[in-house]
Amino acid sequence: MDYRKLEARLRTLDRKYSFFVTIARPQRLRDKGKLSRFLVSVKDCICVEGLQSAAGSRILEGYIPPFQSTVVASVLGEGATIIGKTNQDEFGFGTFSVNSGYGIPKNPHDPGRSCGGSSGGAAGLTAALPDDILHIALGQSTGGSISCPASFCGVVGLTPTYGLVSRYGLIDYANSLDKIGPIAKTVKDAALVLSVIAGFDPRDSTSIKREPEDYTKGLDRGVKGLKIGVPKEYLGKGVDPRVAKSVWSGIKKLESLGAEYQEISLPSTKHALSAYYIIACAEASTNLAKFCGMRYGASEPVRDSFNEYFSRVRTKYFGEEAKRRILLGTYARMAGYRDQYYLKAMKVRTMVIQEFKKAFKKFDVLAAPTMPITAPRFSEIEKMSPIHQYTMDILTVAPNLAGIPTLSVPCGRAKGMPVGLHLMGDHLQEEKILRTGKSLEAGK
Ligand code: GLN
Repeated sequence: MDYRKLEARLRTLDRKYSFFVTIARPQRLRDKGKLSRFLVSVKDCICVEGLQSAAGSRILEGYIPPFQSTVVASVLGEGATIIGKTNQDEFGFGTFSVNSGYGIPKNPHDPGRSCGGSSGGAAGLTAALPDDILHIALGQSTGGSISCPASFCGVVGLTPTYGLVSRYGLIDYANSLDKIGPIAKTVKDAALVLSVIAGFDPRDSTSIKREPEDYTKGLDRGVKGLKIGVPKEYLGKGVDPRVAKSVWSGIKKLESLGAEYQEISLPSTKHALSAYYIIACAEASTNLAKFCGMRYGASEPVRDSFNEYFSRVRTKYFGEEAKRRILLGTYARMAGYRDQYYLKAMKVRTMVIQEFKKAFKKFDVLAAPTMPITAPRFSEIEKMSPIHQYTMDILTVAPNLAGIPTLSVPCGRAKGMPVGLHLMGDHLQEEKILRTGKSLEAGK
């Protein structure tokens, strides 16, 4: 493949859909390694040495990392070609990718609709590239940012167990929740990339010590005898009935392939959303303190006190949503409110983990819709309040609070737009959700 021609194709796509923040300069494609035929796009919040990495924010414009993130080093080590940095909600703050400082990515199935967020550019690009181009996107999730866009764009999104993939070189949103994972056209491609990027990294203190695994191996084992739990709270009111119908048809398909399913209850689900937003914003507000216009990205002439300078730069370069989350997070952490909000949220998080752990004693995987809706129109998003937008994460935040792996697989269409089925597994049981996803994909 000629990279110059490819680059021209990517630029044409980008003009129409705004999938990229930065497209990589021409380079030579390599021919050795497990990913040698693959093009890899990298979400803007994952550092790539020598390429602007701005996490979708104007405050980091011009920041070019002098080092490589571990995941990028791993895919390069297997011969992949990095094609650029994909568009996202600023620092991962959003569900529809409308909070980027670099334009809004548009859904290739209908450019009047959202790609989902926050890894919108990653999923949109994956869906838009023709099948003859092997491409994998590296995305990042804090509360659903791999699954949501995968579901809205009709591609596969794999969010691994917390700690399985190194976060070294990731521009943090909320450290106790952040994960890096692949978005791909097929379950097999996602499993292949996971095999390359998973593994212990001494530079990430939350990295799990374990032997590397080949996740492509067990993919064709099928689902005979597999026990699936369907949490009733995940199919209740608020879920578009057409989405629910498509998800049920996916579950029935798995049943016809030999799996058994049973409805279960996860009662903490209703508290998970509030707990998630308190914890995520609390961590984000401390993480963003370092962006003060001095060390990275945007700066201005200094002519006032530090506090005045700090707020002038941040007022100018942070977007609305980043400011909202700094305020929310700082408030929740304040002495006097900490017990009421932050510590309470941590208790809910423990309850959520315990409920999942109990469910996985009985079930191999849990199945639900990934999102309660299909990709909304931009005109619909404009009418949603911030809180209304947050409620759209209701189905993805609980598994993220628990740090369990999830896989969003396309299971049909509703109103002409793709629907994702969300498979959730116990910690480090990626093999089971991948095998289930592969059966669903094959049974299409
Ligand atoms: N939509 C969620 C949020 O805004 C999740 C984002 C993410 O996973 N990065 O926090």
